[in-house]
Amino acid sequence: MKIAVLSGKGGTGKTLCAVNLTAVSPGSIYVDCDIEEPDGHLFFKPKTIQSEKVTVFFPKINALLCNGCRKCVYFCRFNALAMVHNCITVFPEVCHACGGCAIICPVLAISDGKLEIGVIDDGTVSAIRIISGTLNPGRESGVPIINKMAKMIENTQDLVFIDCPPGSSCATVESIRIADFCILVTEPTRFGAHDLEMVHELIISENKPCAAILNKIDSSDDPSETYCIEKGIPIMGKIPYDPELGRINSEGLVAAWEKESYKIQFAKILSRIIEEASHETVANPKR
Ligand code: SF4
Ligand code: SF4
Repeated sequence: MKIAVLSGKGGTGKTLCAVNLTAVSPGSIYVDCDIEEPDGHLFFKPKTIQSEKVTVFFPKINALLCNGCRKCVYFCRFNALAMVHNCITVFPEVCHACGGCAIICPVLAISDGKLEIGVIDDGTVSAIRIISGTLNPGRESGVPIINKMAKMIENTQDLVFIDCPPGSSCATVESIRIADFCILVTEPTRFGAHDLEMVHELIISENKPCAAILNKIDSSDDPSETYCIEKGIPIMGKIPYDPELGRINSEGLVAAWEKESYKIQFAKILSRIIEEASHETVANPKR
């Protein structure tokens, strides 16, 4: 089973939950799809890491073959190609790596120059596999990195936790698509509720079952809990506002490995998630 852990915005405790749910599941796999700022590995500190570069198509122009017909320039809907001083120039910042220009070129003057956009690290710690994707600075889209990580876990029977990018970007959508079940992590603020609604709508559009974890709970009214009740989103656990948990987390430690009470807390939440997710899978096998 693959469980995506999401939040509408940063700072709600998404990675805290993803890391600690993984930590109480020996034999599981943690996949960090938060490719612009992957930080799960800072908590787990995996060993024996294997790294693989991720490349995408990048037009390499053979000036000797190019006849200047400009068909590639007219074809590229992203305006990533231009004829400058009788030479085709590529603007890498706007190229979407579709490969269409190579197909359209009548004299095969365009080949794959392979542009490196990031890296995938694959390591282990305490019988847990840690897969982490990192997008290189300045690169527009990390979707190919997420797709490659999805392939790596495609046929696994192990329990997988996917730490998704915050918000509702293309990378978030791709991360949701890998999952069988989604967990929404939210906080008791109006901003939290607003962003929860945004990512919940995304999950509905992808037709995925979901549940919620309410983080940083205190005695005040919780608009996020109200939203969950109104929308019928099952609540898997409430994590109280806890400065000690915040301190352990900010020191890059795994709370469930540091203190028995946190281990019990996250194990209980996980057990509810597994029960809910199994129920959903049985109820909607074609989802
Ligand atoms: S389509 Fe091919 S031949 Fe025509 S301008 Fe582009 S690279 Fe040159
Ligand atoms: S690969 Fe696609 S986006 Fe990039 S220059 Fe060619 S046609 Fe344009």
